[in-house]
Amino acid sequence: LMIGVPRETFPGEKRVATVPEVVEKLIKLGFSVSVESGAGDDANFSDDAYRAAGAQIIEGAANLWIASDIVFKVRPPSSEEVALIREGSTLIGFIWPAQNPDLMQQLAAKRVTVLALDSLPRTLSRAQKMDALTSMAGVSGYRAVIEAANAFGRFFNGQITAAGKVPPAKVFIAGAGVAGLAAIGTAANLGAIVRANDTRAEVADQVVSLGGEFVKVDYEEEGSGGGGYAKVMSEGFQQAQREMYAKQAREVDIIITTALIPGKPAPKLITAEMVQSMKPGSVIVDMAAEQGGNCELTVPGQSVVKHGVTIVGYTDLASRLAKQSSTLYSTNLLRLTEELCKAADGTKTTDGTINVNMEDEAIRGLTVVKEGNITWPPPPPKVV
Ligand code: NAD
Repeated sequence: LMIGVPRETFPGEKRVATVPEVVEKLIKLGFSVSVESGAGDDANFSDDAYRAAGAQIIEGAANLWIASDIVFKVRPPSSEEVALIREGSTLIGFIWPAQNPDLMQQLAAKRVTVLALDSLPRTLSRAQKMDALTSMAGVSGYRAVIEAANAFGRFFNGQITAAGKVPPAKVFIAGAGVAGLAAIGTAANLGAIVRANDTRAEVADQVVSLGGEFVKVDYEEEGSGGGGYAKVMSEGFQQAQREMYAKQAREVDIIITTALIPGKPAPKLITAEMVQSMKPGSVIVDMAAEQGGNCELTVPGQSVVKHGVTIVGYTDLASRLAKQSSTLYSTNLLRLTEELCKAADGTKTTDGTINVNMEDEAIRGLTVVKEGNITWPPPPPKVV
């Protein structure tokens, strides 16, 4: 079968779903690979690099989509892209079925099969190698610290120089999931003093192992809402948490917020008063900007200065490190493709065909449209 990689069309998106290194591996699995001319330009992968890896370069999106049996994408397809999909083909990428019901209907009408990386059952350890949400959150957490460092007027690490002693920057991270932990590690590596808080007490050890200090809220309430995710906390907890965050805001130079609750707006953790109480020149990077923001003053997609504090609300942090995120993303896609190259009895195939095995829990979870039928949400896991 032919795997096609179109250029991403979402404004400002720099990532590409497949990098040349992965093209070679897909060809070894028996596929042929076509890449739209210029698809990798913004991530520093040239047409020539794809050609050298064995891909065919196709001019124009329409020609690419019509030639492809399987399409690898990053962002959900636009209506224009859906119109280009060939009936009976397979689409793999981020889809977000809950947020995009119209797109799901359009895809079903095209009688395609759609594998949504955002719908992978993440608690299956076997699925980790395919977990693009984790890879992208890791890249974003790293980039959030780089954005903060860029907007901050001082060093992160303490230094003793001939021109005087420089204190280390103090960084507070709100939310220590995948992105928050990546931010903790990055800020600690740059030499900052790092503190972090999360409503799920289980992450405290991970914060410490990455070089941070876990700061507890002075209120007994467990924050796990099931499946490793957070829940909405009681009003009493939120009050105690606001007091602790207000104290941190007065003390630290940089706040990076990453707090999310599945299916709910992002919790508001940093009030306008807290921003006002921060030292001039401080920086907030709000990684929850797209879900409504953890800070009251965040403007999604922009960097703004309020009360002398730079508040970064970029919603494209992974795309801002496009070469790295594309490389990790396409490795996740390769691992998924390897899973699809298995016959029903589990034997590996290298003839360039795929088997969307609905008996496999990981594949079942990912498959949101099967040959024109909407198969999302998947049935709940069997209780044994
Ligand atoms: P997320 O993006 O949904 O949320 C980010 C963090 O914000 C979470 O740690 C959450 O507890 C925290 N948070 C929510 N509300 C908060 C509040 N009011 N105050 C402070 N913090 C708050 O989470 P995520 O990064 O996707 O990770 C969620 C969990 O899933 C983690 O336990 C992670 O290890 C787990 N996970 C497991 C796998 C796997 O097993 N393969 C893969 C990915 C993630």
